[in-house]
Amino acid sequence: MQKVFNTNHLEPWHYSYVLEENPFKQADEFIKDDKILVNTAKEMYKSMGWDIDNLPVTLDLFPKENKNSHAFSCGIDTNKDVRVLANLKNDTYSLEVLCHELGHTVYDLGISPKLPYLNREPASYAMTEAVAKMMQTLYIKENLLQEKLGISKDLAKQLKQYNLTNKANFIQRFVFLFKFEKALYENPNQNIKKLWYDLSEKYEGIKSPQKQHNEWCNIPHFLSHPAYCQNYLRADIMAEQLYLSSVKKLGQLTNNQNTAKHLQKLFKTGSLYPEAETLQRFTGKPLNVEAYEDIFKK
Ligand SMILES: [Zn+2]
Repeated sequence: MQKVFNTNHLEPWHYSYVLEENPFKQADEFIKDDKILVNTAKEMYKSMGWDIDNLPVTLDLFPKENKNSHAFSCGIDTNKDVRVLANLKNDTYSLEVLCHELGHTVYDLGISPKLPYLNREPASYAMTEAVAKMMQTLYIKENLLQEKLGISKDLAKQLKQYNLTNKANFIQRFVFLFKFEKALYENPNQNIKKLWYDLSEKYEGIKSPQKQHNEWCNIPHFLSHPAYCQNYLRADIMAEQLYLSSVKKLGQLTNNQNTAKHLQKLFKTGSLYPEAETLQRFTGKPLNVEAYEDIFKK
């Protein structure tokens, strides 16, 4: 990069110019229309034992004027009424979004209506995110695009590899954010700009600019949702733990009619037990990074 920019002092903004080959662009070509996109997600869920068309879920999936531009799944009434809003396009990113949101949906629908009213919700924010994150990557992990859309074996391999690189970047980023926020609360009177850039260099390898700014304020969670960023990292770790323990029992999750029944054991207890206990009951182990480490060893 120093050669490309003809400088021996790289600034943080140089890193955003790194050009990369993204195999997902090639895979996007196979998602030719809305129907292929939605059917691929629905077929994935059907192959695990959930018939989305016959569940009490309302889908509003494509953009229209004055519509909220985000994507979310909202449990209005446990077991009876879940609604998904999204703004999908014909690409793999949208497939991932849809598979993610439907993960929240099946969790909400799986919570037992016999639970006390206040426990009729997922075990925690991080737990429902963990389930959604696990669902969003299944189509890559279990080669669904090869099977359903006919992408080549080689491209399927590249997608997996690219996802793994993204995962490594995600870990670096969120360990950095987590360490920063923790240090911020431990000593709010320190030089916060310096703390931000020191940790960025340590965890992301990005050198500080000569003039330091309050760049940390760009992360909205630090201002509006204190101590929330760690949820994303914890959810990601739990997603791999849930996946590994399920795969050990089921072989694979897609094309397996036992999957819904198996995950139902996790969903049905809602928030009856704290997150840590829910995870331990389902996977047989406390929160740990064994599965997280495993994915990088393959
Ligand atoms: Zn989510």
